[in-house]
Amino acid sequence: MSTYAKLPSKKPKQKAPHRSFFRRLDIRFPWLKLAAVILIGIFAIMDLLDLTISKIGDPYDKIKIAPMSHHVRATERYFNGRMLVALTFDDGPSAETTPILLDILFQKDVPATFFMLGSMARKNPDLVRRAEKEGHNIGSHTMYHQNLVRISAKATQNDISEAKTVFNEILGHQPTYTRPPYGNINNTVRSSVGTPMILWSVDSLDWQSKNVDAIVATIMEQVHDGAIILMHDIYPTSVEAVPIIINKLRDAGYEFVNISELVKMRSINLSPGTAYYNFRP
Ligand SMILES: [Zn+2]
Repeated sequence: MSTYAKLPSKKPKQKAPHRSFFRRLDIRFPWLKLAAVILIGIFAIMDLLDLTISKIGDPYDKIKIAPMSHHVRATERYFNGRMLVALTFDDGPSAETTPILLDILFQKDVPATFFMLGSMARKNPDLVRRAEKEGHNIGSHTMYHQNLVRISAKATQNDISEAKTVFNEILGHQPTYTRPPYGNINNTVRSSVGTPMILWSVDSLDWQSKNVDAIVATIMEQVHDGAIILMHDIYPTSVEAVPIIINKLRDAGYEFVNISELVKMRSINLSPGTAYYNFRP
């Protein structure tokens, strides 16, 4: 049979030297090995620099994940176990209530952080200077308390920059932090503030309840290490609640710090345009 006879002559051809899959791949694509080494190298460098594809892709991803990444970083660096809390007061300074609050904070030796309105600061420049002199941080709560996500980009930029000018005139420097009204942030706000944005993790709802017991209870229920507590120094009930809150939180083992101290003690590097809600260990 002719087909049968042909078989032996074909056999030597089939016995070509056996090559593994990887060897064959190497012969066919000699550049593949080099490409793989380069790729692994790139990923190793990215890992060292703590970069990820998402962080490179969208600058605002960094903002969305900021609290978690700082949470991890702070845990690595902060071990001394002190429980820290920051009181923050918005919408002032008020000629009626802010001096009483400053007296209380002075007597209790508690540093706090004020997010003042440029429009209010202009009316009460001495209170702005006094607050800073007594160890409190002064942040901008913008000029006119507009909802920045509802107005034009130009109006947002004008409001923020007008407030900066006011604080610069009163204090001789611009505010270190910004708290946008209602905590409302969009891309225009992020790119216009020029400072880190300090939001909050505990909302006392003092403006709503205007009730000392309710304010104290709300804070005590939600407080945690690294908390940023939101209050308003323009309501007498809020100011009245402060000494009670200070005593209760001290009894519970908390220490009071202003935002710059809290940031320093938790070893956090703040970035302009990024929002921070708490500084948990
Ligand atoms: Zn406000």
